[in-house]
Amino acid sequence: MMRKANRANSALKRFIMTILFLTITSLLLSACGEEGTPAQGSGKLKVTTTIGMITDVVNEVGGDYVEAVGLMGPGIDPHLYKASQGDVKKLDEADVIFYGGLHLEGKMAEMFESLEKSKPTVAVSSQIPESSLRANPQGGNYSHDPHIWFNVKLWMSATEVIRDTLVEKDPAHKSVYMDRAAAYMAKLEELDQYVRTQVGLIPEQSRILVTAHDAFGYFGDEYGMKVMGLQGMNTMSEYGSKDVSELRDFLVENKIKAVFIESSVPRKSIESVIEGAKKLGHEVTIGGELFSDAMGDAGTPEGTYIGMVKHNVDTIVNALK
Ligand code: ZN
Repeated sequence: MMRKANRANSALKRFIMTILFLTITSLLLSACGEEGTPAQGSGKLKVTTTIGMITDVVNEVGGDYVEAVGLMGPGIDPHLYKASQGDVKKLDEADVIFYGGLHLEGKMAEMFESLEKSKPTVAVSSQIPESSLRANPQGGNYSHDPHIWFNVKLWMSATEVIRDTLVEKDPAHKSVYMDRAAAYMAKLEELDQYVRTQVGLIPEQSRILVTAHDAFGYFGDEYGMKVMGLQGMNTMSEYGSKDVSELRDFLVENKIKAVFIESSVPRKSIESVIEGAKKLGHEVTIGGELFSDAMGDAGTPEGTYIGMVKHNVDTIVNALK
């Protein structure tokens, strides 16, 4: 009888000790978890992106349920961008990473490949069929033009990729993401129409867009403008005196009255072409600054994707019509 009671007593003790152990362990684990992934603390999905245009769409679709951190601000050239220590931390802490892909972020490609193994790392261009992609005429180590955002239709595909990824990673808020994405896509549809109408105001023979680097190929293809860039698709490639003289001759021959500088590319390249044309007796002006690979300042209309596209189109139309 005594022995039985003793045994029962020690079984109870073991039981209590086990409960205590489990409680302490789970407390310790949850503390660690909170430190490792702060997103669980805020309840928001932590998203890290590269260019501002992607960050903007993530905020549009994700709303209050997403905390988006963009690595590249206004005036930053993604082709040349190298991740800082702080960026590595932001990528490391993210639940989801979105980037442009097609080698837009030329110096970060390897980093994305290795991050892919541990977390959702998604190129927003990934669902565009190859037949809709422009080839890179310069050849080299990447085969397609990465500047998909200037064809608003292609940017709608990017928006769908962002929507679907958010739904997959945070299914509890699926209806919010679906509704917000649908509302945003309707705005993009309007934007697409706006661009078409505005470009239609430029006389046909003047629909030639000359810029510092070849970022507007998709824009030209979709909306009917011939596009020339001094520097090729990738600002990493050097332009030479031959490029300058060829572009200069093109301006003179086609009587082009305005060329455009870009917010993320130094303006001296395009200025040397203007100088050259002037020496040949052809006056060319700078038609304005376009946002090519980076948006404008936060809080301004150009600090959003839709605002930046409108700014570009209005600037082009005003200078060429
Ligand atoms: Zn570019």
